[in-house]
Amino acid sequence: MNLITSIILSLLLGSLALVKKALTPAALLVAIIFSFIIAFFGGLTPFIILVIVFLGSIITKLFNKKQIKEKRKLIQIISNVGLPTLSIILFHLEKNDIYLLIYASIMAESLADTLASDIGVLSKKDPINILTWHRSLKGLSGNISLLGLFSSLIGSILISLIYFIGIKNDLISSLIILLSGFIGSLIDSFLGAILQVKYKCSKCKKITEKRKHCNQKTNYYQGIKWIDNNMVNLLSNLIIFVILCLLYV
Ligand SMILES: [Zn+2]
Repeated sequence: MNLITSIILSLLLGSLALVKKALTPAALLVAIIFSFIIAFFGGLTPFIILVIVFLGSIITKLFNKKQIKEKRKLIQIISNVGLPTLSIILFHLEKNDIYLLIYASIMAESLADTLASDIGVLSKKDPINILTWHRSLKGLSGNISLLGLFSSLIGSILISLIYFIGIKNDLISSLIILLSGFIGSLIDSFLGAILQVKYKCSKCKKITEKRKHCNQKTNYYQGIKWIDNNMVNLLSNLIIFVILCLLYV
């Protein structure tokens, strides 16, 4: 995409994030830089994929008038869009289409994962823990629900369709993206269940991922202390990145 269009489009996306108060200032700046790189070096279709994934991340908030409660921080942007942006830079440097496929696969995983957690939480039944298969609390990493799985499948199909239409009419590639998205979000849940740090509220005794609950500091419950949701996202992105590179080799 040409320079001026890329700048305008990334600023437009940035303005949408600004209007929805979706990002902190530092996160917004880096998000605009990343989206410029994706538009300028990747082209229109990778940029459309980025917009879809961004809309997916605020979709449940788009339908109600309320502003987004928790703004996304810099670390969230880097752990979610860092590897996709790197893939686009590699695509530009090495002129190899495999990096566009990797980009779309990681983005499919991001969308699948966001939709699974944001829409899955609306499920009437309590979710089950992916490790124990026991019913568990809503909103905790490592939990899955039928509605969540369905949403993640729809997200993956959407990205693979956009890739098919906009980048390459190739069924195998689209299937790889679909599977990366769907299986990736399951890997994300597994990592969330096994590794991610969880806390317990001393007041209401709920298990949570938050450091604060009921207006007081929560206590460590289980998981690895430095592995939070961002780290899990980064890890599952990295797993897809490595698996697809290996498959290609
Ligand atoms: Zn509490």
